[in-house]
Amino acid sequence: MNNYAYMLDGKAYINLTNKCSNACTFCIRNTGGGVKDTVLWLDNEPADESAVLAAFDGLSYGCGEVVFCGYGEPTENMKVLVPVARELKRRGYTTRLNTNGLGSLVNGRNIAPELKDMDVVSVSLNNCTADKYLSVTRSSFGSNAFDGVLDFAKCCKSEGLDVIFTVVDVIGEKDIANCKKLCDNMGIPLRVRKYVADNYNGA
Ligand code: SF4
Repeated sequence: MNNYAYMLDGKAYINLTNKCSNACTFCIRNTGGGVKDTVLWLDNEPADESAVLAAFDGLSYGCGEVVFCGYGEPTENMKVLVPVARELKRRGYTTRLNTNGLGSLVNGRNIAPELKDMDVVSVSLNNCTADKYLSVTRSSFGSNAFDGVLDFAKCCKSEGLDVIFTVVDVIGEKDIANCKKLCDNMGIPLRVRKYVADNYNGA
């Protein structure tokens, strides 16, 4: 099954890959195959934008925001993400990328300039230090991952993109406060999300 596009709570989502360089302890992929009734593991990743746009057209989504989200990390499939975002922007949709912020490390280049068709880039900060980040994400980039996320967000900001950081509320008030300081120093807003324990992620 290849659900490249799906609806959740009245909003359209784009699903481009199974891959992710993190293995977060809280990831909904650890406990199931999708959200609500939609299977999100892909049998085949899209090779180009045509299959994704065909799936999106099948949703008959009138207007509003389109979110590039899981099940894997969208920036693992930049060659499809970029043209799909460009086309959806051309059609007048608002676009948002939900990302782990590791796309530049994954692709071996600064990908921020390629994200100009994203209205919002939402980056998972996870926590306030490299050690804490690594312990929860178990990133394949090891101790470089956290700085990679911060660098990516800085580059997005430099490109003039509307970038925000997110954390989930389970990290505790002290770490949330430290995340807030870090974000304030970078001039990037922080959004604290409610942790969702089952296979549902409308964020
Ligand atoms: S970055 Fe997202 S998709 Fe990847 S393991 Fe963590 S929660 Fe799951």
